[in-house]
Amino acid sequence: MSNKYSEIYSYTSKVLDLISKQEITEEDAKWVTDETLNGFKEHVNPGFLEYRKTVTKDMQYAAVEWKDSGPNCFIDVNGKEYIDCLGGFGIYNVGHRHPKVVKAVKDQMDRQALHSQDLLDPLRAMLAKTLADLTPGDLKYSYFGNSGTESIEAALKLAKIYHKKNDRHTFLATTRAFHGKSLGSLSGTAKGVFRKPFLPLVHGFRHVPFGDIDMMHKTMHACHMVGEEVAAVIVEPIQGEGGVIVPPDDYLPKLRELCDEYGALLIFDEVQTGMGRTGKMFCCEHYDVVPDILCLGKAFGGGIMPASATVATEEVFTHWFENPFLHTTTFGGNPLACAAALANINVLIEEKLPERAAEIGEYLIQGLRDAAKGHENIVLEIRGKGLLIGIEFVSDEIGYEVSKGFFDNGVLVAGTLVNAKTIRVEPPLTIEKAQCDRVCEVFAKVLNEVNKQLVKG
Ligand SMILES: *Cc1c(COP(=O)(O)O)cnc(C)c1O
Repeated sequence: MSNKYSEIYSYTSKVLDLISKQEITEEDAKWVTDETLNGFKEHVNPGFLEYRKTVTKDMQYAAVEWKDSGPNCFIDVNGKEYIDCLGGFGIYNVGHRHPKVVKAVKDQMDRQALHSQDLLDPLRAMLAKTLADLTPGDLKYSYFGNSGTESIEAALKLAKIYHKKNDRHTFLATTRAFHGKSLGSLSGTAKGVFRKPFLPLVHGFRHVPFGDIDMMHKTMHACHMVGEEVAAVIVEPIQGEGGVIVPPDDYLPKLRELCDEYGALLIFDEVQTGMGRTGKMFCCEHYDVVPDILCLGKAFGGGIMPASATVATEEVFTHWFENPFLHTTTFGGNPLACAAALANINVLIEEKLPERAAEIGEYLIQGLRDAAKGHENIVLEIRGKGLLIGIEFVSDEIGYEVSKGFFDNGVLVAGTLVNAKTIRVEPPLTIEKAQCDRVCEVFAKVLNEVNKQLVKG
């Protein structure tokens, strides 16, 4: 072996040995921390270390995660436990490492890990059938990808090909939307900071204020008048990344009517709101509205595997029948991902997790509101549906201060990417009441501290 290869060989051997260990020694923990900090600084992106410093106190930015601890918590290399109220931005709906999902994936892996890419793979068919039964209305065919972004890309391409014959390529998205960061999905995403360096994006996107049906109507009509008919409207039923923004109750039903009137497709991005998060299996079920295309991701893979789906009606999907290779990806719908997704759905039903999200969500929102009493000078609003909860502060700075306080006290929350004023709380749907109580207790304590600091100036 060359010198270079022998060094790489012994380094990777050491890492493999670490991976195989359940417990970590103090000495190993130190090595892992040093290697992680150095690796991020020199080879990943030092910007992440700077970001971590803004949401942590003292030296805690260097906290390195190591293992899960039950369904709702995880532990860092130094043994500190955190209640996971970020939930991987909504990945862990059935909890961390749910045994049934882990078993399905392990069993599948022991038999066959990835598919031949040529023969018919059984789990793809079974998952697609399950989704047709699970999703509302006449949604019937599924395309599988590996990420939410990919599910959006597929939806946009599906809308384009559906409208190919009548030459429609205008898309209406909404302000504060988040649909991903690939060139296509980014065209629908709203935040200027993410978009500007990459302009021009996909041609034909316009953004309309979220929740404003009159503006949507006017824009749709204006597009019609200038001969740029709308191919599709894309929205999140409740905006996640934008800061947990719940639209007026009649917004989505009216949007459905509007799309029908103008012959535009309706795409729901339920990458974050799907799989029980908001108290129903799919958020659109709160409003009795069925989209033409439904995008799923994040929690779809059961918190174990990366997996996403784009589910569409036959009328729409039929345009991919003639040539199924028009839009494909090597790993999308692989057996491990399908096994995880099937187990995930099985668990959501067995443990009635959508109902649980509704119940515990109400409990947690009430607890957080109680904790914020007397702090109206810094907390503007606590809102949400199910276990998709946002806490809005008067400023980004206050939001970051509260995040730090939470982290210091062993609770992980998320300052949202496109609206740092709002902290998102989206724990596993399995979170216990006692853990919710602890989160509220910490919230009250942190608000007191932040307010004291403000008085001191
Ligand atoms: C996270 C998210 C995406 C992108 O999903 P990735 O898996 O990060 O590609 C798209 N839409 C919504 C609503 C999301 O929350």
